[in-house]
Amino acid sequence: MNDLTVLSASPRNDWSRAEILALFALPFNDLLFQAQTVHRQHFNPNEVQVSTLLSIKTGACPEDCKYCPQSGHYNTELEKEKLMEVEKVLEEAKLAKESGASRFCMGAAWREPHTRDMPYVLEMVKGVKALGLESCMTLGMLTSEQSRQLADAGLDYYNHNLDTSPEFYGDIITTRTYEERLDTLANVREAGIKVCCGGIVGMGETADDRAGLLQQLANMEQQPESVPINMLVKVAGTPLEEETELDPFEFIRTIAVARILMPQSHVRLSAGREEMNEQMQALAFFAGANSIFYGEKLLTTPNPAANKDMQLFDKLGIQPEQVQVTDTDAEQEEQLQEQIRQEESKQYFYDATA
Ligand code: SF4
Repeated sequence: MNDLTVLSASPRNDWSRAEILALFALPFNDLLFQAQTVHRQHFNPNEVQVSTLLSIKTGACPEDCKYCPQSGHYNTELEKEKLMEVEKVLEEAKLAKESGASRFCMGAAWREPHTRDMPYVLEMVKGVKALGLESCMTLGMLTSEQSRQLADAGLDYYNHNLDTSPEFYGDIITTRTYEERLDTLANVREAGIKVCCGGIVGMGETADDRAGLLQQLANMEQQPESVPINMLVKVAGTPLEEETELDPFEFIRTIAVARILMPQSHVRLSAGREEMNEQMQALAFFAGANSIFYGEKLLTTPNPAANKDMQLFDKLGIQPEQVQVTDTDAEQEEQLQEQIRQEESKQYFYDATA
């Protein structure tokens, strides 16, 4: 592969595993230079999109994802929580906006939302939109009907990760198939919601698996708009608690290759950031990461405190990316604010863990 293959590229959907492995095998400085060059063709290199993530329903998940403290299959001493009230979620969203977030992500530990859950999550989406924030949800598998309902409520992004390569997937999750994940992603895409889809590294996978994950993501008919790359957080009580550390340079390489393969996507430095020092985060930004989760919690694992993030941004001359608000958005926001005022008297609280 010569440099032009990479640098002239608008998104390609025909990456072979061998081509991707060849990128991983480049000398580190060459790989980072290529990634940063691609990054500058599509993004302001000194802007990072900031999202806040709130767990709206925690723990007791019936799935058996081996990395996840929220799985009901493992004893991680995580306190289970019911679905949060809509008003509480919106209070958190307001705080997130005040701390500089442009996107508010809500995650529920479900295999899939039940029909009874949908009215509540739809209200949450409308409320977050009314605050002028972009909205994102991760609720597990979705039918096409549920995807349409979320799209109608104004959901901007849906997160559903592929986690790893198709070959390694069965070693990590047995309760839902890779195919089912792809079906949900297709439903979300068809409903017109933007896709947030990535994976986790450091779970004992091979370099070939890391290439395989990125190959799956890059070769989607339309690449995900947002690609979270997580570093495994080893939580006591999960089957991966003793997993061997991944070499940090391998993580940076994964970010850089993701940037090259998916030049127009936001690549998100996601779970595992707590364990990274400032230098490693800076290197990840240089490799093309341009989105972070901000705030004290990343679902149930710690995330560097928000002010530490701002200090790092200051040191690096990075600005948080702003959401573009159009006139139509402003009108919609006013209408939605009115809707929220009307909804405020209603109670949205029930036992979603039952
Ligand atoms: S990753 Fe999601 S689906 Fe898997 S166990 Fe955790 S909450 Fe459930």
